[in-house]
Amino acid sequence: MNIIGGGPSALLLASELNPESFEVYIHEKNTAPGRKFLVAGHGGFNLTHSEAPEQFIQRYSPSSFLKKAFFGFTNHNLMAWLKARGIETRVGSSGRVFPLKGIKPIQVLDALLKHLQKRGVKVLYSREWMGFSAAGELLFKTKTGMETLQSEITVFCLGGASWPQTGSKGDWTNHFIKKGVTIIPFQASNCAFEIKWPVQLLSKIEGKAIKNAVFTCGKSHHAGEVVLTAFGIEGSGIYPLSPDIRKALENGKEAELLIDFKPGLSTATLFKKLQSKKSKGTYTQHVQKTLNLSDTQLALLKQYLSKDDFLNAERFVYFIKHFPLRISATGPISEAISSVGGIALEELNENFELKKIKNTYAIGEMLDYDAPTGGYLLQSCFSMAHALAKFLNAGS
Ligand SMILES: Cc1cc2nc3c(=O)[nH]c(=O)nc-3n(C[C@H](O)[C@H](O)[C@H](O)COP(=O)(O)OP(=O)(O)OC[C@H]3O[C@@H](n4cnc5c(N)ncnc54)[C@H](O)[C@@H]3O)c2cc1C
Repeated sequence: MNIIGGGPSALLLASELNPESFEVYIHEKNTAPGRKFLVAGHGGFNLTHSEAPEQFIQRYSPSSFLKKAFFGFTNHNLMAWLKARGIETRVGSSGRVFPLKGIKPIQVLDALLKHLQKRGVKVLYSREWMGFSAAGELLFKTKTGMETLQSEITVFCLGGASWPQTGSKGDWTNHFIKKGVTIIPFQASNCAFEIKWPVQLLSKIEGKAIKNAVFTCGKSHHAGEVVLTAFGIEGSGIYPLSPDIRKALENGKEAELLIDFKPGLSTATLFKKLQSKKSKGTYTQHVQKTLNLSDTQLALLKQYLSKDDFLNAERFVYFIKHFPLRISATGPISEAISSVGGIALEELNENFELKKIKNTYAIGEMLDYDAPTGGYLLQSCFSMAHALAKFLNAGS
């Protein structure tokens, strides 16, 4: 059994395969495993999310291909699985699941690797898969030259195309195209989005956060926080809107992002507040104080509203609840948290086997699906890995 790639999908799969039935080899091109997993660890390191499984599965687009795998190994199962390997988790105030305070990302990775060692899994490094030979063997570039390998069962866990410095470059697509497998071009997800800020505004808003707001694109909303940058906008408040924003950007169009700066207050309440006794100072100071607007919110409203709208209380509160920004592009994929694109889901059967290449499977971020940050990406990788191990164990 040959697993290609040494990220979290591969590590959980190898951990769950029955050692009595399979001699398992992981082939990783780097000199160490799980580089992107460790990068994730430097950020929030959300191993999963604690929300109810019925809600959880709806975060994926599409979700149908993952349903069986996810319900077979849910977020709760993952937490129990990690605990059994010495990794206790905690649920943060956002509902995201982290390793217990004090447990470093490298310790989580080491716990997984230790388990693999116990199960007799052999992890081979500096082995880059270069495609298939004419006879269908696996081709590897190694330190000592090219090698071919006859593989009875192969599982690809090559990852997506963001953060290429981790090894996940998405540079393997041609090997599958040659076999007739449909590949969807990679695009950035959970990424920054470009907004062409007027120069005079930028100095007032660059690096500033918009907190406790609700962001809408199309029919999707998300509550959270964003940071305004010279490039545009990024942060957990809009990452989950990535599929909607990308869709709106299709064919070179712009995407409209609406911000509700005051989700806790209705338009009527805001209007009533604004009509209350005028505080001392200018009108601008009055609206800022009465409605408790941050300097950043005020700078945005002043920049984009016409003078008439700014001075008209009814229009002004409308824009506080529906503040429009125009997104012109996604940020670079190399800086995105994840990517969509890769192997088209139609190319796989319900057990993640490639329909056009027998006894060959693919799981993890290399498949064309989208998930928000916050633990959903890793959970999907782990659920797919668990489902595939269960299937292969049953058939062995
Ligand atoms: C900054 C950042 C923060 C993140 N934070 C979170 C988070 O908090 N929570 C969350 O759920 N997710 C997070 N993610 C996403 C998560 O890390 C990925 O979704 C996950 O690592 C994907 O796992 P994978 O096993 O499918 O692929 P990867 O982790 O990408 O692993 C693929 C492996 O395959 C190897 N490989 C590639 N090509 C070849 C080849 N030809 N031959 C041999 N080996 C090859 C690569 O070197 C790599 O080791 C984050 C990602 C980033 C970049």
